Amino acid sequence: MKYVFLVVLVVAIPVIIFWYTKDTTNHITIGFSSDSSSTTGVVSENRFPELKQNNEVKITARSDLSTQNPEEGDTVVLTIFDPALIPENSSFMGKPISFFPYEGNIISFIPIPIGKIGNQELTVTFKNGEKMTRTLYVQAKKFPIYNVGIPERLGMTASELIKQLADEKKELDMILSINTKETYFSKPFILPVGNAPVSGTFGEIRKTGSNEIRHLGVDFAPPEGTFVKASNDGIIKKAGFDSIYGNMVIIDHGNEVFSMYLHMKSVSVRVGDAVKQGETIGVVGNTGYSTGEHLHFSIKINSISVDPLRFISVLK
Ligand SMILES: [Zn+2]
Repeated sequence: MKYVFLVVLVVAIPVIIFWYTKDTTNHITIGFSSDSSSTTGVVSENRFPELKQNNEVKITARSDLSTQNPEEGDTVVLTIFDPALIPENSSFMGKPISFFPYEGNIISFIPIPIGKIGNQELTVTFKNGEKMTRTLYVQAKKFPIYNVGIPERLGMTASELIKQLADEKKELDMILSINTKETYFSKPFILPVGNAPVSGTFGEIRKTGSNEIRHLGVDFAPPEGTFVKASNDGIIKKAGFDSIYGNMVIIDHGNEVFSMYLHMKSVSVRVGDAVKQGETIGVVGNTGYSTGEHLHFSIKINSISVDPLRFISVLK
């Protein structure tokens, strides 16, 4: 009987030690709530040996996601209220997201592309080893389909237009992939032509013959001669004429956030200029692939097009 008891002890003690160790090393929880209420986690000494001198080391990690159920084309804002937590690695839909300081917090714009519906996992690993995992449920959005012709003055067929758009995209992708790792803006973005009426919505499909072109910006129809204003502070990355986009401007706002202004009558900035929010960058026009006087305005985040109207409202 004595030997049986000893055998049980010999087997049980390592098992108990194993479970205890496993729990204290893996079970480090820092709460990340979807509202802005505070959640607190106690950090295990095993993971942070350098903090051993303190008897009670606590990290308060508060975060906020603007929504967990975004629609295609939305921008989700992740705010981390604890500046001591420095994001090191992140992933959403297989790509890293950018973080930047904003109003004393750390924020990230998470772009939701068109066509990736359902659960999508967001992970962020912080420098201190903490890991945050959240699931966003992306909802499908219904986009209208319109028949649009090609202006005669462009002198090209629908398939030539599609090919030219693909060529333009290569150049655009090069500009949009620049990550300056700097943040040039410190306040919410503004609309470039005030409260001008919207004449074309984000995501709508424009059919030219059998070809379909997805409209990845928003069109405004302000009165002729209206000045176009910079949506936020930034550096001009493109300024000039393009056969499809007409007179255009691209502003780099830092951390892979860009705004684009197309089809203008004229452009009044040059590549390399630093612009402030509200500064005039051009005049509304009807140049390039355009069937009437309007301003096309796009927002690109990490090279993904998002709905500019939703984007503008997300920081307010
Ligand atoms: Zn447009």
